Parts: sequence; structure tokens; C-alpha cells
Amino acid sequence: MTDYSDRFDRLETNLVHAGAPRPNIGGAVVTPIFQSANYLMADEGAYDEVRYIRLSNSPNHFTLQARLAAAEEGESALVTASGMAAITTSILAFVGAGEHLLTQRTLYGGTQNFLDEDGPRLNIAHTAIDTVAGSPADWEAALRPETRLILVESISNPLMEVGDLEAVVAFARSHGLITMIDNTFASPVNFRPLEIGIDLVVHSATKYLNGHSDIVAGAVVGSATHVDRVRHLLLHLGGSIDPNTAFLFERGLKTLALRVARQNSSAMQIAEFLAGRDDIERVNYPGLPSDPGHAVARELFSGFGGMLSFYTGDVERAERFLSRVRIPLHAASLGGVESLVVRPSRSSHLGVPPTAREALGITDDLVRVSTGIEDPGELIADFEQALDR
Ligand code: PLP
Repeated sequence: MTDYSDRFDRLETNLVHAGAPRPNIGGAVVTPIFQSANYLMADEGAYDEVRYIRLSNSPNHFTLQARLAAAEEGESALVTASGMAAITTSILAFVGAGEHLLTQRTLYGGTQNFLDEDGPRLNIAHTAIDTVAGSPADWEAALRPETRLILVESISNPLMEVGDLEAVVAFARSHGLITMIDNTFASPVNFRPLEIGIDLVVHSATKYLNGHSDIVAGAVVGSATHVDRVRHLLLHLGGSIDPNTAFLFERGLKTLALRVARQNSSAMQIAEFLAGRDDIERVNYPGLPSDPGHAVARELFSGFGGMLSFYTGDVERAERFLSRVRIPLHAASLGGVESLVVRPSRSSHLGVPPTAREALGITDDLVRVSTGIEDPGELIADFEQALDR
């Protein structure tokens, strides 16, 4: 009988070893790719014990799920076909027709579009709350008898907002709401939301967890009860990960701590460089003492992340910068080893109507940076020439 319960004390060790099959299957040091859709029948007592890729129970799934649970300090985890599969399946597992959820003011555009466009058809309503400048009294005004869940992001996309997450947990507990956080931008290296009492953590593993821009995947972590509820719905919706992707995901995950440490340090240096320039209107980065999210991030996080954004003043200047930088690639997505730059109004938030975008501060001159693991001095020199020329 293969055992997947190995778990260690430190995150760095867990990222390499937690959940590895014991005894090692066929003596393999690395979990092999189990490219088999189905498995021989054993003594299954329930439908979800039948071994089948869609039921997320191949050795690749078991290892990855145990490893992610260990990384996020959770009891249980589920891997999914994408970050959006993790997010939508988790929302739908806890919020049904006729029910309502509260959402952070700025969310990843795909999540926002799902709630705005599909929510009404599913009879699921949502109300945005300001978790940065607002107070629990304001949030209370948005509550309804049918409110079930509150959805936030640890560091929001693309403004890098960090809300008062402990207040969100206290508020949710006092009103019997499930708390769900998208921890994609922080990664468990910088923040483990379950430690402050958040119920459910979701990730786009496409980003930092895998870290090499070569797969699309997602994850859900929390208590066994909460994760089982999401797993049950995923069996029906079918957004499960395939073993090849799981293999790449596991391989990338092993170096998460090293990558993120470098990305934290380089992003801080880039943010300070940009903030020191007179021709940059504002830099959004929770590591800067002037940032509205700095106090919460300093208290709760062990690092400020590899993502930042800045306002160039006008769209032409933003476009010139994007075309002149040599090292960062001009592309959407984030969290890989290569630095990326993009205008969120043209990528993650293209689906959000322009007036709503502008009202949130996602203006056309906003440039978002995903810091890679290149030499930070060379990156800064490249930014400098692209802004100066
Ligand atoms: N959450 C955040 C914060 C994201 O940035 C993204 C993608 O850009 C997603 C979720 C969606 O993830 P995926 O593209 O893996 O479905």
C-alpha cells in the first residue's frame, strides 16, 4: 500500500518531500507520470474511491495534493485544471442559487467577469466591499440574510492592495460566513492564510506555484470538510488536472521557496528604483513603507512578493516603455522565472468595462511587473534605459 502522508516541519522541506509516495514507486526518486485514465478495481466503497483521473486520485494527484496541503499548513488540498476551475468550483460549492457573496473591491479580472456575467444567470449575487480603506461597519451594510461567503485576494491583481485580512476573518466569523482567499500573488512562501483563520485558500498554480510559465493549473487548500465539498463538485464539473500537468506542477513546486525569495528581493529593489524617480506618478508595492497595504503586509507576510505596478503618466509613455525594455517580456500572466511587463487594462482587466476600470485605478497608463529571477541590477538598468530613452 503506497503512503502519501510524509510531512515535515519546514516549508522548504515540505516543498521538496511532503506527500511523496512511500515506498518510492518502482524505486523512482521523482514521482513518475501516471498516464493511465483508469485503475484496476480494488475494494471501493464509494464512487469517488474508483480510481480515475477525473476523480483526482492518481499517484500524481495524491502527491501534489498532500504537498500543497503541507505548504499551506492545511489539512487537505485539491488540484484543479486551472486557477479559474479552483475559484469557480469553490464559489459554487458554498454559494447556491438565491445566495450572495461579498467580494474585495478589486479582484482578478477573470473572477470578476465570472461573478458579473455568469452570476446573474446562476442567480448568485455579489457586492464589492473595500477591505483596504473601508471598515467592518461598511461591510455590514452590504450583508444580506442570504450572504454565505467573503472572497478576497491576499495581494490584489493588479493594484497590489492588501486588505485588513484579520478584520475580514473576524467579521466573517461573527456573521457565519466562509472566508475564501486567492493567495496566488503572495504564495505560501510569503503568506499562509489558514494560519490567521481563513477557511479556504485558492491558487492559480499557473503562476508562482509552478513558476515556469509552462502549465495552467489551480489548487484549493483548507480543512478536509471544506475541501471535500469542493472536490465533490469538481467531480461533476470535471475541472481536474491531467497527470502530465501534475508532474510539471510538482517539479516546479520544489523550487518555490528559492524562486520567491529572489523575486521578493528583486521586486523590492525595482519598486524602490521606480519610487525614487520624479517621472513615475505612483508605485503600487506593499513592501514600500508609503503603500496603503504596508502595515498589514509587514505584520502578516514574510515577504512582499514579486508583483508591482506603476503609473507612467500617459498611455503612450507606457507603450514606449513596454516596447523598449529588453529583458522583461511583454506578456500577460505572471509568477514565472522570466520577468514580464503588461498593461492590465489590455490584459487581465480587458473584460472589465473601461469606466469601472478607471474608477478602481486600473488606468491605461498602469504597467504591471512580474519580477523574474534574472540579475536585479541588470533588470533595473534595463528599466532605466527604457524610461529614459
Ligand atoms: N487568480 C489570480 C490572482 C490570477 O492572476 C489569475 C490569472 O491570471 C487567476 C486567478 C486565474 O488563473 P488561471 O489562469 O490559472 O485560470
